[in-house]
Amino acid sequence: MEHRGYANTQALFERAQSVVPAGIYGHQNPAGLVPGEYPYFFERGYGARVWDVDGNEYLDYMCSYGPIVLGHNHPAVEEAATAQRRKGNCFNGPTPLWVELAEHLVGITPFADWAAFAKNGSDVCTWAVEIARHATGRKKVLKARGAYHGTHAWCTPLAAGTTPEDLSNVANFRYNDLEDVGRVAAAHDDQVAAIILTPFKHETFRPQEMPAEGFLSGVRRLCDEKGIVLIVDDVRAGFRLHLGGSLELFGVQPDLACYCKAIANGYALSACLGRDSLRQVAAEVFFTGSYFTSGVPMAAALACLREIAASGAIAHMEAMGDLLRRGLEDQGRAHGHPVSVTGPSAIPFLTFADDPKFALARRFAAACCRRGVYLHPTHNWFLSAAHTEADIRETLDVTDAAFRDL
Ligand code: PMP
Repeated sequence: MEHRGYANTQALFERAQSVVPAGIYGHQNPAGLVPGEYPYFFERGYGARVWDVDGNEYLDYMCSYGPIVLGHNHPAVEEAATAQRRKGNCFNGPTPLWVELAEHLVGITPFADWAAFAKNGSDVCTWAVEIARHATGRKKVLKARGAYHGTHAWCTPLAAGTTPEDLSNVANFRYNDLEDVGRVAAAHDDQVAAIILTPFKHETFRPQEMPAEGFLSGVRRLCDEKGIVLIVDDVRAGFRLHLGGSLELFGVQPDLACYCKAIANGYALSACLGRDSLRQVAAEVFFTGSYFTSGVPMAAALACLREIAASGAIAHMEAMGDLLRRGLEDQGRAHGHPVSVTGPSAIPFLTFADDPKFALARRFAAACCRRGVYLHPTHNWFLSAAHTEADIRETLDVTDAAFRDL
């Protein structure tokens, strides 16, 4: 299909800039993509495809930056959400789904004895840190340098609006370097409340890194020896790699786990799961929000999690991601532009060799976008259960042409 350009996107963006700071702020700001070469506003999505406000159609490899795990507008999820919406969404207390969803999550998550709900990944990551501080009576939090855990002051990647004090109890270690974790922990004596980790390293502007053999289990051991709470930030990867939490893949169990993105196929919900030993302290750390108990996202989450399990979505995403990875790496070699696809197959990221400023990546991504494949030049991608083998083949035809353009 002929690309229709971005006239409506540009007109909306101009209007947005006069009434919204930056027009679109945060991770979806156009500067993160290739300005002028991408749609910024969307009208609808079905399965693996989305349509922008100019009527252009795309095979979607960002899945709304993670939430869309079953495909856009998934019938089972929409039916469950609609049924709850007819009854009401927001009440003076939770709906029965609050209990049902917590029971479901505890049932599928080997380490967990309880679950609590919020709206954003940042909410639950910060709350988990507070629980760890309250449980241990210690102040310090250790995180991997460059790891993203949300927008709150203790971990925001951009310092504007924060104070040095906000960061004064946070220390960074090198991901995949167990000795460094030990050194940083020792430097803070007996003051370490928590180590927070993503299951693999998925920083923007870098190839992704899987955990090295023994790294996660080594961190677990250190936490046990020192009485440190181990928090897994599974906001980005959760329910795409393993239904029981991404650390299950590596045979390690955290004390607290934070989820968001894929939990409800696009509905606003996050969750923190924890061990029995932290139940009482969790109850003592104040946590609430105007919409934390809303029923519709919880109906969506139950339907989403059941569908992921029943449909074999996780194995399917891995298989489709494997096909995509092999195809891209073969094409890169054939076109004399070697690339690596790093990270798990369901959450892949492509980087070009010798492309430190991501100039080739941006040209490649823009060339794909023009031809109807929406992927990202500097941030990892997401597969969904709706991507079919035919979609991957169609995608590889597009990427082949994009490699030729380079
Ligand atoms: N942790 C990780 C690993 C994330 O990827 C994100 C979101 N990209 C967050 C935390 C923050 O989640 P939210 O944007 O929903 O606050």
